[in-house]
Amino acid sequence: MNAIRHDFRSDTVTRPSPGMRAAMAEAEVGDDVFGDDPTVKLLEQRMAGLLGKDAALFVPSGTMSNLLGLMSHCGRGDEYIAGQKAHLYVNEAGGAAVLGSIQPQPIAHQADGTLALAEIEAAIKPDDSHYARTRVIALENTFGGRALPLAYMHAVADIAERHGLGMHLDGARAFNACTALDIDIGTLAARFDTVSICLSKGLGAPVGSVLVGRADLIASARRTRKMLGGGLRQAGVLAAAGLYALEHNVARLADDHRRARQLAEGLARHGALSVSMPDTNIIWVDSAPELAHGLSVYLAEHGVGVTGGYGQKQRWVTHLDIGDEDVTAALAVVDGYFASGRAPS
Ligand SMILES: *Cc1c(COP(=O)(O)O)cnc(C)c1O
Repeated sequence: MNAIRHDFRSDTVTRPSPGMRAAMAEAEVGDDVFGDDPTVKLLEQRMAGLLGKDAALFVPSGTMSNLLGLMSHCGRGDEYIAGQKAHLYVNEAGGAAVLGSIQPQPIAHQADGTLALAEIEAAIKPDDSHYARTRVIALENTFGGRALPLAYMHAVADIAERHGLGMHLDGARAFNACTALDIDIGTLAARFDTVSICLSKGLGAPVGSVLVGRADLIASARRTRKMLGGGLRQAGVLAAAGLYALEHNVARLADDHRRARQLAEGLARHGALSVSMPDTNIIWVDSAPELAHGLSVYLAEHGVGVTGGYGQKQRWVTHLDIGDEDVTAALAVVDGYFASGRAPS
């Protein structure tokens, strides 16, 4: 297999830029488990301020951040409501069940990625000893790269409020959602009690997520973080990357979205590819299994990295380390595949 020269597999593949590395090298640090790391504190304060919340907690990953969010809302035997394809339900190794003893109540997504309000409401359990206690509704935005509208999040929050439930947002790519919806992060976060945001995706930091929310929930999450082995010592070198990212890598997400649209338009010129036009930085490409496989192999041979393959949608993701020239080069490889005679007809 050839080395990947144009890496569209994920926005997690970015490498810290020279400016970010300099910020990391210069970070003031201390032992954060003792509460002594000024750079971690600054990142936590800045995130809490941006989102209009009481407090924030720096954690090693989005998986831990979501788990801490759910565990701060739910005790043993409680239940959370989430989408059937939600990352925290499907892609986090069942951590909420294994480590939190929390039961999921998954709900099928509608075609637009949202959960039907009536289905959410019907899934909330009455106070009856037969049932787990429903405690929290977890939404994800962006969801598969789709920016779900603010009005939908408000409507779900209204249900939560009527039933006295908490609201958690898996906002791994919350800043991408804000860019697409043209709202600020405080507006996106307003109706949620806890919000998890990844620094290591489109924001380009090497490590880290932040859980932001109500003071009591974040205090509980801090205790659970220690229990899970997520207490970090001189983590200011990592938090400095996050602070740098907030300053330099948020406004530029619009460039990723523009490049994703250019890429999608270029891919869609091939009638055999069914391309979803992206809201943000993720493009899904559906095609016949043989074609998906053949194209994936050809792309890999020509140094273009994507995920998916036989029988799976292909996923293309734009990010900090993808420039206009990568988009042009990748589209030329795709054109080359269809011109090569290797595409099944
Ligand atoms: C990446 C991601 C996570 C988890 O983040 P990790 O840092 O990889 O653990 C959670 N939710 C969504 C939607 C993600 O894309």
